[in-house]
Amino acid sequence: MKEFYRPTWLMETIFKLTPEMLKAQGIKAVLADLDNTLIAWNNPDVTDEVRLWLKKMQDSDILVMVVSNNKTSRVKRAVEPLGIDFVSWSLKPLNRGMEVAKRKLGLRKEELVMVGDQLMTDVLAANFAGIRSILVKPLVQSDSLVTKFNRMCERFILKKLSLKYDMSYRKGIY
Ligand SMILES: [Mg+2]
Repeated sequence: MKEFYRPTWLMETIFKLTPEMLKAQGIKAVLADLDNTLIAWNNPDVTDEVRLWLKKMQDSDILVMVVSNNKTSRVKRAVEPLGIDFVSWSLKPLNRGMEVAKRKLGLRKEELVMVGDQLMTDVLAANFAGIRSILVKPLVQSDSLVTKFNRMCERFILKKLSLKYDMSYRKGIY
């Protein structure tokens, strides 16, 4: 059961992810979670860090699409100024959002990676969809109420996983 929650890779932050790392793995597009992955869950707007990272990806022809469980108004406000596409109400851990994103991008699942800060939504959804995943550390320590509950379960699962696998956060994907 816990294997469903196992991310392919773990990294400190999405911002350390480079086009070179992705290309080495045959990945052409990043499906990025919004809250606590790209921006703090309680921050309405993207930061310069996001802009810089996105530009680096775009300069190397890596596509980025936001796949978020949050409501359309929140996701649209944050993402629209960046000029990239998004899926809101993605219903992670169901694979709906990832299927929509895959169709929109016209890529195969092997060419995608899901990056997110939650095992219970981002990683689980990616595993259901057969897409590789990167678990990152949440940008801020505070969480919304629903996430607080998920975090409790997550700590338990992480502990279980770490008995069997190396669950340390790395500097890259390898
Ligand atoms: Mg998140």
